[in-house]
Amino acid sequence: MHYKNYKGILNKYGMNLFRGCLHGCIYCDSRSDCYQMDHDFFDVEIKQNAPILLEDSLKRKRKKGMIGTGAMSDPYMNHPFTLDITRKCFEIISKYNFGLTFQTKSTLFLRDLSLLKEINKKTKVVVQMTLTTFDDDLSKVVEPNVETTRERLIALKRLKEEGIPSVVWLSPLLPYINDDLANLKAILNGCYEASVKGIIWFGAGLTLRKGNREYYYRELDKHFPGLKEKYIKKYGLNYEVMSPNHNFLNKYFHNFCSEKLIMHNNKQIFAYLNEFEEKKPFEQMQLF
Ligand code: SF4
Repeated sequence: MHYKNYKGILNKYGMNLFRGCLHGCIYCDSRSDCYQMDHDFFDVEIKQNAPILLEDSLKRKRKKGMIGTGAMSDPYMNHPFTLDITRKCFEIISKYNFGLTFQTKSTLFLRDLSLLKEINKKTKVVVQMTLTTFDDDLSKVVEPNVETTRERLIALKRLKEEGIPSVVWLSPLLPYINDDLANLKAILNGCYEASVKGIIWFGAGLTLRKGNREYYYRELDKHFPGLKEKYIKKYGLNYEVMSPNHNFLNKYFHNFCSEKLIMHNNKQIFAYLNEFEEKKPFEQMQLF
């Protein structure tokens, strides 16, 4: 971990509080060379003045909106300094009555549940949770330093009880690893039980480019001997690495979501995530 002062934090309504991540997902795109990270991915850079910068930006913003975070680095890493920065930023979002949405694979957001409830009473909070692998042992291989899918689903049910909406990113499904119907069915059933509002799905597969490809292949050699060679033969240097099971998994996914009335059109889900809501006092009172 190291610290750095930045000049700005918000890009429109989005921000990343850190560079690098501790969760260790073997397929992580944020490791790609195009992001020009000048330090080791696990040596997370903490934007230490993020709360000051955020407060300054929100004070001056004319239009309220949904502040988003977590696209490049999980806001809930198991480290006291990162958790502190995340909490302080979310407190500022609450103070200035903005909405909040964040992407995570961790259940550590539950430590800030009362703060999330407070924001959700005034405006809107949506927790975006990524789920890829239902099997616990496999989950610990592909996403080694974060809670299992089962634990994440329990956290989503907790959100449901508290009336905080959630959206799931069901991605990536890694060819020959977790791209099977049993895995997809188990995750979808979990999402239904947790009443998630929508599921973002880009098909069964993943993306690989310089930087993340090399890391992914090293992990394949470690945990799935022979699989790297199979990928190289089938996909070469392709950016999109589609599962051979894509077609029937895709069909199953859309049929399931239609039947269970879960939002499954990505455009519609992103519009929902960006849509700011200010709750009227009457609605707020009903939530107490
Ligand atoms: S949680 Fe996201 S940013 Fe962190 S390692 Fe996993 S994929 Fe990368």
